Parts: sequence; structure tokens; C-alpha cells
Amino acid sequence: MDTLIFDILTIFPGLLDSPLSESIIRRARQDGKIRIDITDIRDFAEDKHTMTDDRPFGGGAGMLMKPEPLTAALGSAQQKNGAGKVILLSPQGRLYTQRVAEELSRESHLILVCGRYEGVDERFIENSVDDVISLGDYILTGGELGAMIIIDSVTRLLPGVLGCAESVSRDTFSRNLLKHPQYTRPRVFAGQEVPAILLSGDHGAIEEYRFIQSVQRTLERRPDLCRQNSFSATEIDWLKKHGLYSSFCPVSEKTQ
Ligand code: SAM
Repeated sequence: MDTLIFDILTIFPGLLDSPLSESIIRRARQDGKIRIDITDIRDFAEDKHTMTDDRPFGGGAGMLMKPEPLTAALGSAQQKNGAGKVILLSPQGRLYTQRVAEELSRESHLILVCGRYEGVDERFIENSVDDVISLGDYILTGGELGAMIIIDSVTRLLPGVLGCAESVSRDTFSRNLLKHPQYTRPRVFAGQEVPAILLSGDHGAIEEYRFIQSVQRTLERRPDLCRQNSFSATEIDWLKKHGLYSSFCPVSEKTQ
């Protein structure tokens, strides 16, 4: 069995403890599906004050992470676990999506470098980083939350990590459709009944109903996703039947 190794380089290793030691991630570690090694960049600071940051040349606000401790910390992780794919968390990177999570889940060793302060000396990025990833168009105080999001979302895609493989293939974003609304017991809550069709036992009708709910929800909340989809012949029939075909405009049909 292959183990996906995650190395994390950070100046705040304590931040990572609990989220990576609970629930599905804890079990994936115990089962040897993933291994997580954390390197404290401060251990590689050269001066006695363990300084990992300094003022930017040319002036400006804040501090920057120095290249030497970062390079030494990376070298130490690579000596232990191999070269890996080195990823810097940065708001200036390519946007992290489910497609990127799928891509990373096919790697065997990811090294996640967490920036802090105003960011990282550019020479470290040029010399040592293979990929720069952003969690979205907002600014976090550091890369640690981003590293945890990558580990969490990639780990659940690995074979055998989730009990039911179908839950991955039916997730929102697995095919650019938001998931349909879901209900559990009780059958009536606060005067609201679960949609009758879900209790009908008619699996074909339930599938059609859920698909149409997904489509409507996606059109309403994330119309940007609609342009990126393709559908089976049955789904196209359902779209036509419910008058949604023209507004959804499936890619597979457009190119024919
Ligand atoms: N001054 C930098 C800029 O404008 O690009 C932002 C620095 S931010 C305060 C500090 C660190 O947090 C970054 O080096 C990065 O590692 C992490 N970070 C902040 N926002 C992020 C985002 N959206 N995605 C990934 N990492 C982020």
C-alpha cells in the first residue's frame, strides 16, 4: 500500500496539532494511508534569537521570511523523505479547487511551505518551489490553515480513506454540480415534511429529482459552474423535460 507523505514547514507547529489528530485524518494516519511530518523552520534559524524574518529591502511595511532558514528546513525534510513536490501557500498562487485536490491526490510526497508576516523572500520561491497555491481571494495570517485544507481535502480522496467511495464521486464539485438538498429523520420537522418522492422507493424517480435539484441549485448559486459541465443522454432528457436545457447549455451538446 502506498502512503502519501505530507511534509509541513511552519514556524507555528502547535497550530497544526488538533486538526490533524482527529476523525478521518487521524484514522488515515493510523492506517498508513498518509504520513504527516512537521518541520519547525525556527530550528533552522542561524542566529541565537532564532530569527526567521527580516525587514524588506527597499522599505515597506512588515517583515519577510528569510531564505536561509526556509532553505535549510526544506533540505532537512527532503533528506528524510525525498525531493517531493514543493508547494508554497500564497494568495498569489493558482486557485485551489477540487480539480487541484484530485491532481495532488495522485502525488506521493507533498511539501507544504507555510508563509507568515508579509510573505517569503522571492529567491526561495524561485530556487525551491515547484507550485504556488492560493486558497482564495482573501488574505490569511499564515499558510497553516491552507496546508490543513489541502491535507484534509486530498486525504479524503485517497482510496479506502472514506468508508463509502460513492460519497466522493457524488460530492459537490466532483462534476461541477452542487449537491442536491438532503434530509434525514425525523420525517416531519418544525412542520416541514421531507419531499414525498424521497419516501417513494422509486429509485429512478429519486435520481431524476436529485439531479434536477442539483441543476437548479447550481444555476441559482453558482452559474459560473454551469458552463463547465457535460451530461449523459438520460440527463439531457431530464433537463429538456424540466425546461432547463437551454439555460444550462451543456458543453457536450454545444461542441457537437
Ligand atoms: N503580503 C502578502 C501578499 O499581499 O501577497 C500576504 C502575506 S500573508 C499575511 C502571510 C502568509 O499567509 C502568506 O505568505 C501565505 O503563506 C499565507 N496566505 C495568506 N493568504 C493566503 C491565501 N489566500 N492562500 C494561501 N496562503 C495564504
